[in-house]
Amino acid sequence: MQLSVMFVASLMIPVLILTYTEHNPLWTSIACVMIPLGGYTLFAALTCHSGWMVWLGFPFIFLSAFQIVLSYLFGNSVVAADMFLNLRTTNPGEATELLANIYPAVIGVMLVYIPLLWLATTHIRRRVLLRCQARMKMVVTGAVCFILGCLVLVCGCNRSVKHVVRDELFPVNVIYNMGVALSESNKISNFHTTAKNFKYNPQRHSSAQCREVYVLVIGEASRAASWQMFGYERETNPLLSKREDLVLFKNVITQSNTTHKSVPMMLSSVHTSQHRELYHRKGIPALFNEAGFTTYFISNQSPQGAMIDNLAHDALHVEYVGPPHLDMQLVEAMRKALKEEKSDKILFILHSYGSHFSYHQRYPREFARFVPDDDVAVTRKNIEMIRNAYDNSIRYTDYFLNEVISTLEELDGVSTAMYYCADHGEDLFDGTKKRFLHASPTVTYHQLHVASLAWFSPIYKGLYAHKVEAARGNTMAPATTYSVFHTMADMADMRSPYIMRDASLLNPYFDYGAARYYLDDHNRAVKLDRNIGIDSEERKFFIEHGIEL
Ligand SMILES: [Zn+2]
Repeated sequence: MQLSVMFVASLMIPVLILTYTEHNPLWTSIACVMIPLGGYTLFAALTCHSGWMVWLGFPFIFLSAFQIVLSYLFGNSVVAADMFLNLRTTNPGEATELLANIYPAVIGVMLVYIPLLWLATTHIRRRVLLRCQARMKMVVTGAVCFILGCLVLVCGCNRSVKHVVRDELFPVNVIYNMGVALSESNKISNFHTTAKNFKYNPQRHSSAQCREVYVLVIGEASRAASWQMFGYERETNPLLSKREDLVLFKNVITQSNTTHKSVPMMLSSVHTSQHRELYHRKGIPALFNEAGFTTYFISNQSPQGAMIDNLAHDALHVEYVGPPHLDMQLVEAMRKALKEEKSDKILFILHSYGSHFSYHQRYPREFARFVPDDDVAVTRKNIEMIRNAYDNSIRYTDYFLNEVISTLEELDGVSTAMYYCADHGEDLFDGTKKRFLHASPTVTYHQLHVASLAWFSPIYKGLYAHKVEAARGNTMAPATTYSVFHTMADMADMRSPYIMRDASLLNPYFDYGAARYYLDDHNRAVKLDRNIGIDSEERKFFIEHGIEL
């Protein structure tokens, strides 16, 4: 019986952690403890082969271990559908970087579950069986807990049973999220069939009589709050802050705090509230192809086997730069293409690695301005080093973007413009909650508010003075990353029923009244207002940065 008790107790660890972190009403919490306690106990007593039952319960062990590690990383929330999709899209290098830095949680999980599995194996080998009496006790205890838990759930909870079971009851909620992830994964795999015949049929309202080069730079995990130009006190933008020809967009919120969801939404014309339509439409590369551009998608991130690749691979030239994965390699690849390319209409999409964890590895040593910046474990005692490394990565982004612009400036007689927008922000142990990273199921100000800016060449300014003037006027426009597609289309002065000009940051008639939406873990559009489930501290962060919800 000892093994079965250990088994149930180990599975209850994440349940108890979630009871502490999720702040559910009392009766919901009681139901969410009693139902799994009863369920696991009944499961352990299904046969008298207790060793086998532990191994048969391995999926529960896996989910529990995953949950414990994520609770350590994010401080709250269950394993989200996005986490499973992240497993599909995160490359081994990124996973190793992350795991190496959250080793206290990984070691803790191993200390709990490996001895349990070892003990179960010895029980199997020695044919240790659960005694009949002990098994009966477990069945009765399990059934009582389970039934009482269900009664509390039905009678005591003021939220709907479906809602509690789907969103709060561990591990049912995680299994549900796995189902959501599988369904999304299928849609991603079928994209080439579902979007096969899609066409934008764009018309160019006007085009330059000279060569045109437009650049979209997709930033990575770059929160506005750590940019000197967006009000941060540290000198993270020594080069860009000296330029007088930039237009900052200071009020841009991401549609999703995960890369695999945010970047496709940036590349696509679909509105946040039409997420299903994402799988039926092509993206910016296809739009520019149709308009006669030679398109380049150059990425410093590995192919993900996800929607990013589906949309990016329409580009006529797709290149993934190799190690050491520094963003300046994107500039080198762009310079090379500019030298060799004969076309007079070119679009570059540069997908940077920006400030993706582990920050320390995102910049060459000469950019280590803020020290110490060692590559250390994610623990609160290392906050200073982690923040230093993050700020250095922003400083490197500053250099990288300045080099992108310098490259475009060197092009003689060419109409060029660049738009930069980060895919999402990042938590860096801010405020009292001390959360870290991005992609958590509940959002924060620092994950939502992204850095965004544009640059226009003198020739472009001459041709499209009204667009540049409008961009300057839109510096506080309440936008989301939904605007990325429409801003790029407007940059090249395109029209199509799918191009929403009132979402373009280059349009004097940008719709300031449009509601902003955010995609939740189940891809539902949640209105970005005071009811998004943020507390007063987060609200204060928004207000401090001039963002009204
Ligand atoms: Zn990202």
